[in-house]
Amino acid sequence: MRLDKLLANMGYGSRKDVKALIKKKQVTINGRAVKNTAQQLNPEKDTTAVNGEPIIYRKYVYIMMNKPSGYVSATVDNRDQTVVDLLPDDYYVFAPFPVGRLDKDTEGLLLITNDGDLAHRLTSPRKNIEKTYYVTISGPVTEEDKQMFADGITLEDGYQTKPAALTILRTGGTSEAEITITEGKYHQIKRMVAAAGKKVLFLKRIRMGPLTLDPALESGSFRELTAGEVEKLQ
Ligand code: URA
Repeated sequence: MRLDKLLANMGYGSRKDVKALIKKKQVTINGRAVKNTAQQLNPEKDTTAVNGEPIIYRKYVYIMMNKPSGYVSATVDNRDQTVVDLLPDDYYVFAPFPVGRLDKDTEGLLLITNDGDLAHRLTSPRKNIEKTYYVTISGPVTEEDKQMFADGITLEDGYQTKPAALTILRTGGTSEAEITITEGKYHQIKRMVAAAGKKVLFLKRIRMGPLTLDPALESGSFRELTAGEVEKLQ
């Protein structure tokens, strides 16, 4: 990789800023000052330092966000704020994007990364990755509903969903449940609940495959995944 590209990727400014740093001999590779901005290096083996501070190189970034309502799951949008807008500018160099989509009014677990292969694996319909949602529903939820979900529900457009697990937490005028699906059709949970004759009042994703939403993350906040969490996703 070229030195100026590495530094620009790691947030040391534009190529022009980086060139200025190198000219001022503030950059070293394996302890030796570098003069050439186009110097090639192996970021995984060579130690690059700026003003004596070694750069911790990483190619990928993995962020767990507790998505708030009101943000769209996209990188740019000309009408709404996006989940990427909630990240500090330092992350922009990684060009992170959300893995899959939550509706604008849905909250909860969203993985934001620049690891395209991982994103593909987690969203591929063939991988049947389980996603669990906490749902509040208007009206009572019954054992028959549970069976309907387990059998797979026919949506309003005729699509037959794969079997889904409905766990009733509380039933009454407003019910609470957890629903686990292995697909990601447009508005899937809302449409499944509608097909059972009810309405979703609140929807929050709490799990995706091996990744569980950190209860310490308040709505709108985020943290990077631990090494252990990244490993579980591979
Ligand atoms: N199902 C929905 O209806 N909405 C979401 O955001 C996610 C799953």
